[in-house]
Amino acid sequence: RQPLCECHTCYSGPDCSQLLPNCAANVDGGDPLFLEPFWMKHAASSALVVSGWHRMSYSYDDDTSSSKVLEKHIRKLHSLVGNADTDNRFIIFGAGSTQVISAAIYALSPDNASSPARVVASIPYYRLYKAQTEHFKSVDFKFEGDTTAWRNTSTSNTTKLIEFVTSPNNPDGQMNRAVLHGPYVKAIHDRAYYWPHFTPIPAPADEDLMIFTLSKLTGHAGTRFGWAVIKDKNVYERMTNHMSLNSMGVSKDSQLRALKLLKVILERKGREIFEFGYETMKARWEILNKTLSLSNRFSLQKIPPQYCNFFQEVKEPSPAYAWLKCEREEDKDCHAVLKAANIMGREGSRFSAEDRYVRLSMIRRRDDFDIFIERLKELVSKEEGIN
Ligand code: PMP
Repeated sequence: RQPLCECHTCYSGPDCSQLLPNCAANVDGGDPLFLEPFWMKHAASSALVVSGWHRMSYSYDDDTSSSKVLEKHIRKLHSLVGNADTDNRFIIFGAGSTQVISAAIYALSPDNASSPARVVASIPYYRLYKAQTEHFKSVDFKFEGDTTAWRNTSTSNTTKLIEFVTSPNNPDGQMNRAVLHGPYVKAIHDRAYYWPHFTPIPAPADEDLMIFTLSKLTGHAGTRFGWAVIKDKNVYERMTNHMSLNSMGVSKDSQLRALKLLKVILERKGREIFEFGYETMKARWEILNKTLSLSNRFSLQKIPPQYCNFFQEVKEPSPAYAWLKCEREEDKDCHAVLKAANIMGREGSRFSAEDRYVRLSMIRRRDDFDIFIERLKELVSKEEGIN
């Protein structure tokens, strides 16, 4: 174990190798720091120096606020990875996909209609969709909850609906598809995790409105850079209008950093970062499955292996999150069960699911994952019949 500057809070000793007893494992947040070692390896080529007089203007030379060079690199990356069709489509930038999502809801909602568009998602879903839609209270859109109530009903033929489709899904890694169809149904496809780190890429996504983020691609969540790939010109223009009223475009410094990072990825035709990302995530998934293989108390989601067009071979599952289920009748609060064993995950209810489920992040730093596995081994070994 090589200490960087100081030990992780759970380790001590001269080489940070002594795990402190009772120190809690943090597998809660979705900060993708598992990619840090890749960027350490490429520290020089990914470094950026910006003089004080650079990038001062609101706009670029073409009078727009988004870099055409960066846009070109994004299109090139999608085409290389084969995860999204960007031909004849517009691209818009945002401060993380978080801001792009708010622009998308605005753009797909009616203008001054008698009733608002209902925003829905299939449980379990990423909390932000509900939290943000409710926060930006509007007469034009309203969060309505789960898609179930709208499936196979004639109301989806008359009510304006906006369905969030997250694929792979946060929290359970499933390749979700839109479940609502009809003349007034629109979808926002959140493709944050549709990269070879987290899933085989069977085909380019070609939905009307797809959202991506640098956060889960390079791991630079702090750069706050995301984008949407949009088919319809009117939707693109409404999103552009929203962005310009909301923040007058995206930080030029973020755009510059995103470009620098994409150049490093593209130099190696994406192979190195995606191989590193996939191998890391796959190894963690295997270790977790092995740790739970003897357990009757806990189970994990099932994800089948699949052919990946990018790697040109069948790939094993490598999801960003484990969606753990407590199987015992009495373990209704699975988060509390894990917390008592010093494992801090995220409650199922935060994804509008039962608290019998907990989301465990696989994408944090290695130390967090290692401590988690140690704590989990201790917990599983206490099960009757084991040992
Ligand atoms: N969509 C999904 C499905 C996510 O998991 C996240 C981050 N956890 C986001 C969007 C937002 O990410 P960001 O704003 O960093 O792009």
